Amino acid sequence: MPSCPQCQSPRVETLDRGRTAGAAIGAVAGAASGAAAALRTAQLGATYGSLVGPAGAVLGAVAGAAMGGLSGGAVGCEIGSQIGKAVDQNCLKNHHCLECGHRFRDPYA
Ligand SMILES: [Zn+2]
Repeated sequence: MPSCPQCQSPRVETLDRGRTAGAAIGAVAGAASGAAAALRTAQLGATYGSLVGPAGAVLGAVAGAAMGGLSGGAVGCEIGSQIGKAVDQNCLKNHHCLECGHRFRDPYA
């Protein structure tokens, strides 16, 4: 954590706005693409499940859909978070001095 370039105070917080926004956007985008994947995995699950019987087909479809949707959202959230972190470090004034209120970029990023 750098100290404030204006008053040299070590009491500095990171804002992480880009990371938070990126994670949220990524989760939505990931869940959306996950929904498409969920349909495919649901079909796959239904196909394999139907070897066991009708109940197996339903269970397979539900399990496939859940796995596809969840993993899509999680992956999207992670990717969005990483992109947002890069935006925080490179573009935004991500640090906020609690002493004087000065906002500045991390000079070491
Ligand atoms: Zn300061």
